Amino acid sequence: MLTVGVEGIKDFQVCELYYQLRHRDKELEVLSSRDLMIRRFEATLRRVASFFFWKRQDGIIPSYSALLRRWERLWFPGDMDAYDIAVEQHEVARGNMASFTTTAAVAIMRFHEVFAADGLGDPIAIDQPFILPVGKELRIEGRYDLVLRQGNEHRVVMFTSAPRRPPLSWFTMDFAAQRLSYENKRDREWRDINVSYSLYDLAGCNSKELLYWARLLQDKNDVFVPRRGFTTYCKTCPFDSTCRDWRKWPR
Ligand code: SF4
Repeated sequence: MLTVGVEGIKDFQVCELYYQLRHRDKELEVLSSRDLMIRRFEATLRRVASFFFWKRQDGIIPSYSALLRRWERLWFPGDMDAYDIAVEQHEVARGNMASFTTTAAVAIMRFHEVFAADGLGDPIAIDQPFILPVGKELRIEGRYDLVLRQGNEHRVVMFTSAPRRPPLSWFTMDFAAQRLSYENKRDREWRDINVSYSLYDLAGCNSKELLYWARLLQDKNDVFVPRRGFTTYCKTCPFDSTCRDWRKWPR
């Protein structure tokens, strides 16, 4: 049984070798400190969002300052205090953590304006993983960031927090997986529920594309070839040196 994530399918679509090294061999990726910081920034914002909805499930709507405090607790190391931040004592070692906090403060304010409003519905799934079976030997895994319910209406919401947002087409596969998984569950349990998806118009999302690439990936033998020079991934690929020496072309 092959289990593959949506991220893996997207990486395979761009470059087979990149997929193999990253998802099958789990090679160590060399990332710049800024890339690491960006990943941490996104993960921390997601944790703040999940905190908000967990509280909301308990009937409490956290204030904006409570969310900011949560951010600071998660973002700054325990040994860093307000004085350190003010004089940027840790600037060399820790990059621009304070400037990411300025960006986060604006993002959290917008988030709070939208999701603290009344009549939004109840959160019924928060950062919840799902598995989508595709035939006997293949399954796709993904996550719902948030599902809100209001009566018979379910709204599946996907968050994106990258400082430089990728084109919307980048999310097509994520939405295809979410929709297929949701409809799979709906057939069994939620026949009368209407479902809508936020962030991207699903009319443009093609589930067949996702299944095509997932099955192609499943059918691969053990040779995953590089697309060296044909993809912009190469510019920042952490596996460049392995790829440069790759010589396993099938005869
Ligand atoms: S350098 Fe380019 S071709 Fe090689 S693995 Fe990375 S993305 Fe693929």
